[in-house]
Amino acid sequence: MEFGYPPSAEALRAEVRAFLAERPPDTWPHDAMDGGYGTGAYSFQFLRALGTKGWIGLTWPRRFGGAERPMIDQLALMEELALAGAPFGPLAGSDQWAQSLIREGNATLQADLLPRIAAGEALAWQGYSEPDAGSDLLALTTRASRDGDEYRIDGRKIWSSEAGACTHGMVLARTTSATEAGSRAGGLTMFVVPNDTPGLTLRPIVSLTGEVYHYEAFLDDVRVPAWRVMGRPDEGFRELLKGLDRDRFWGRFCKPPALVRLLRLLREHAATTPDPEGDGTAPLLARPGAAHRLVELEAEVAGTRLLFHRFGHLLDQGIPTPYESALYKTMADELGQRVANAALDLLGPDVLLGGAGAPLGGAMRQLYLTSVGQTIAGGTSEVLRTTVATRGLGLPRS
Ligand SMILES: Cc1cc2nc3c(=O)[nH]c(=O)nc-3n(C[C@H](O)[C@H](O)[C@H](O)COP(=O)(O)OP(=O)(O)OC[C@H]3O[C@@H](n4cnc5c(N)ncnc54)[C@H](O)[C@@H]3O)c2cc1C
Repeated sequence: MEFGYPPSAEALRAEVRAFLAERPPDTWPHDAMDGGYGTGAYSFQFLRALGTKGWIGLTWPRRFGGAERPMIDQLALMEELALAGAPFGPLAGSDQWAQSLIREGNATLQADLLPRIAAGEALAWQGYSEPDAGSDLLALTTRASRDGDEYRIDGRKIWSSEAGACTHGMVLARTTSATEAGSRAGGLTMFVVPNDTPGLTLRPIVSLTGEVYHYEAFLDDVRVPAWRVMGRPDEGFRELLKGLDRDRFWGRFCKPPALVRLLRLLREHAATTPDPEGDGTAPLLARPGAAHRLVELEAEVAGTRLLFHRFGHLLDQGIPTPYESALYKTMADELGQRVANAALDLLGPDVLLGGAGAPLGGAMRQLYLTSVGQTIAGGTSEVLRTTVATRGLGLPRS
């Protein structure tokens, strides 16, 4: 069986390749770190250039300024950018934010934000996790209360990715007690909080790579007008759940093509670099088991890519995906770790050196160090395995 893109997506792939040839990925300035999702670093110049091409709102309805193209075209766009190693870090997140505004946002929020998102001028961070509420998100203690036409928000968030590089936070807060709401999942409200709102302080957290990726957010008497509620008050968690499958899909869709690129780099390096443990002439790739391990990983990446295409098709057709997001996300993240480990085994610990002259331009170092957090972000592998067991295999919860 041959898997390929339809003509509209093939035409877009050619356009994307021409765009990248005109100004190659490594010529764009970086503004924030590459988190290892396969979408590269944040480059606002690059994002704005994508906006100018109309590629941020590619699938949005026309009445919201989009091009109303099919999802498969968007998959082709993302895959082509990832294969090239382009710095399109926030693209998938911006699109997800826009899609939830289109689904659930009120007209004021839509008019305020959608044109700016389409131009690459507005980005959101996710303010869900708290120091004592991660896997058990419903244990969050950030509170918001209505005060006339405003809400007052007080609390603390942690691990918010790239918050300092964004313009707005999506902050989940309790507005009604779990007892009054009838369940812990009720009584939570999602707020769109601009980063420059008085009372909001972002504290950077230095990651393993030495760069800043996470932020802690302190909300101290933060006041926002009631129209900044996303969706309905007290129903923030249900809405968050609705978008979760899509978030996990788009958050990891670019990982297989990015791993294709990294494995190509690794293979090329191993084929052309003498093995320091050998006779000085044989390349690293000739080491027993090395080629076999690379081929195995290449096959796994190709298979995972197809699973993500299947998942995308199910989402696009509105077919329920009770366990797929948990399964495929875990597979992609653990595969990323295996590729990083293979690079470390083959090239030795020098692969973790950074700075100018780092082996393979530092690409394997970035993959190795960021892949550690990937199996925690968006739900840990342990928790997601329980989802697959109960929702996928129908096993009992305990
Ligand atoms: C790279 C990265 C990016 C992130 N980005 C964001 C972001 O943008 N916004 C945001 O809000 N948060 C973000 N997070 C936070 C992330 O969502 C949480 O770290 C995650 O949900 C786990 O929560 P925790 O850290 O509190 O760990 P805990 O929930 O305390 O878990 C600790 C350990 O216990 C295990 N465990 C917990 N409960 C169970 C269970 N029921 N069954 C089996 N094992 C269990 C976990 O698997 C883990 O090994 C990010 C995290 C990372 C690493």
